[in-house]
Amino acid sequence: MQALKDTCEPFWRVSRREPCPICGKTDWCGINSRLAVCMRVKSDYPVSNGGWLHKLAPGVVKEEVYSPAGTNPAAPIATRNRVYRAFLSCLHLLPEHKKDLLRRGLSEEEIKRNGYKSVPSPAERWRLCKELKERGYDLAGVPGFYQARGRYGGHYWTFKALPGYFIPVRDSEGRIQALQVRLDQPDGTGKYRFFSTPNKTGGSSSGAPCHVVRPEELKDRRVWVTEGPLKADIASRYLGSVFIGVAGAGNWRPAVEAIQELGAREVVIAYDRDKNLKDAVRRAERELKVNLRRKGIRVFIASWNQEKGIDDALVSGCEITVKEERGV
Ligand SMILES: [Zn+2]
Repeated sequence: MQALKDTCEPFWRVSRREPCPICGKTDWCGINSRLAVCMRVKSDYPVSNGGWLHKLAPGVVKEEVYSPAGTNPAAPIATRNRVYRAFLSCLHLLPEHKKDLLRRGLSEEEIKRNGYKSVPSPAERWRLCKELKERGYDLAGVPGFYQARGRYGGHYWTFKALPGYFIPVRDSEGRIQALQVRLDQPDGTGKYRFFSTPNKTGGSSSGAPCHVVRPEELKDRRVWVTEGPLKADIASRYLGSVFIGVAGAGNWRPAVEAIQELGAREVVIAYDRDKNLKDAVRRAERELKVNLRRKGIRVFIASWNQEKGIDDALVSGCEITVKEERGV
């Protein structure tokens, strides 16, 4: 079994739900969508560590195949929320990831409540997906998941993510609409990556939604906007205000929508301090400001003297100045 697992579609144990198609028993044997390793019935293909390989006729093991690449719309938010919650509940947070989150200024309880989890190793992926499927979760169109092709034909569900930890991205109602991964090894395109499978069978694109955080205790009626979900999680804790983390300064459109859903009348923009160096960030800030003011929303700009992001500024106790922007 072990040797086979590495070279083709994974095998799973037969069960009461799925008995061995060769001997009919409910234990010991293994199957995937095209093959069985029966431990009781011989064939011409013995397997080195026990049992015999049998080719299954197509359709013996039920499989659903989704239209390939690019044609799948994302599953509705209710489905994504249900699947992501169940998925995260199966995962753990590695000590080094927890340490990183503590270092950034979150408490143990917040780390637990916010639901950060480590990306599991490739060997565990198909098994996790199988478990979700067996528990009745539909993975079709849920960004991050997709159907892989087995070496001998057939498909199985799995997911794609680089090593790191998952950050849940919530909508204005607290539903998990997407996941972001904080990469262990940032590459040329940054430290964060959406959990997304736009060009994969059965997969879908996450888009670039914004993250809405509500604090335990609301101390400020204004809604704050910053760059990145994790930054928003941290800053919200320190200020006791609703925070929106946009997926990059330029992706402010979803934030305007969320601000309207929240019914906010006043917004504070707290983009990174490097906006003073980056034209694109400055331009994005101006566009966000103009769009909010057009909707009759008062806009304030936050500034501070040290640290790049508002989260680090708050954690290190910098003074934050908030000024209303009247001109356009
Ligand atoms: Zn069998």
